[in-house]
Amino acid sequence: MEYEAGPDLLAGKAILVTGAGDGIGKTAAMSYARHGATVILLGRTVSKLENLYDEIIATGLNEPGIVPMDLATASAADIQEMSAVIEKQYGRLDGLLHNAAILGDRIPVEHYDLNQWARVMQVNFNAVVLLTQLLLPLLKVPASSSIVFTSSGVGVTPRAYWGAYSVSKYAMEGFAKLLADELENTANIRVNILNPGATRTSMRAAAYPGENPGTVKTPDELMGLYLYLMGPDSKDENGRTFSG
Ligand code: NDP
Repeated sequence: MEYEAGPDLLAGKAILVTGAGDGIGKTAAMSYARHGATVILLGRTVSKLENLYDEIIATGLNEPGIVPMDLATASAADIQEMSAVIEKQYGRLDGLLHNAAILGDRIPVEHYDLNQWARVMQVNFNAVVLLTQLLLPLLKVPASSSIVFTSSGVGVTPRAYWGAYSVSKYAMEGFAKLLADELENTANIRVNILNPGATRTSMRAAAYPGENPGTVKTPDELMGLYLYLMGPDSKDENGRTFSG
């Protein structure tokens, strides 16, 4: 998307990014911080979150928050605790980017390990529902806030051999659309789906090991869309799917 974001587009906003330590989530968190937001970095590898924290501080941007959390095992109590800390520190949430995900195997259903199936569904879908539900009260505080769900082409049309990943994204799309419908007239929260498309990250490299990464767009090239959906220019968008 061609979108020119002003330098202060997200000034004064508190935005939580899941899977902020690497890939698209890292680039999005940095980009939000560069446009004035205070970002809350959620991820499972603390060293990656700390590196990004240092980078944001070294660039002279707002001090980010860090939430070390493994979404494969996080309980409702863990998320409630995080929500209480965010409320105490920031008083609200202006944006939530659901970005963290795992790929799992790409093999026939007949051979798919069911423990792995459950783990992929937990990270990519159940944790997304739980986070959304428990963060809604904070997202209702501002006059306008944004939830962005990250989907995939295999979440729109399930694809053979993509197993739990495809099904988890399909389920997430359903949840996002339900929520957009539910909140349309009851809250100042917009809910949209973003399908980044093929993007140069370690997940893409794992899914397509034979591909030359140089032929695939970088996360930076997606940032117009990521900024648009978090900023005030998208305030009237709800229940839509955007593709990178
Ligand atoms: P990466 O694998 O590069 O990054 C995923 C991030 O999610 C990492 O920071 C990872 O943490 C974090 N994460 C994974 N599992 C957990 C967990 N259990 N708890 C907390 N954090 C976790 O993926 P991408 O950047 O490529 O993908 C970002 C999103 O975009 C995903 O939702 C993906 O499905 C979607 N997408 C990506 C496409 C692509 O081509 N890249 C295409 C279509 C959709 P850690 O670094 O510690 O592993």
